[in-house]
Amino acid sequence: MASRQQRRRYVPQRTCVVCRQKTDKRRLTRIVSTSEGRVVVDSSGKLAGRGAYLCEKVSCWEEALRGSALKRALKSDVSREDLARLAGRRPATENENAV
Ligand SMILES: [Zn+2]
Repeated sequence: MASRQQRRRYVPQRTCVVCRQKTDKRRLTRIVSTSEGRVVVDSSGKLAGRGAYLCEKVSCWEEALRGSALKRALKSDVSREDLARLAGRRPATENENAV
């Protein structure tokens, strides 16, 4: 019995905190407010703390880097230092059209 290519892979979906679009978790960047009050990119996906997801659209990152969307999502203040560090993780512009 050959099983046809019917592999239903479950991919967790998460919502971008800016555009509210649901996307595969793997394509989103997780940002975590840690217990030390820092806001960092969680590249391992395992950091403890309140998390917020950002999709790869540059416009969403720009909005998030203004601070208020992240502040709302994380329910904590985001320092300018942390925002600057997040800005360094911003996806490249050519991803703008990748949906
Ligand atoms: Zn988005």
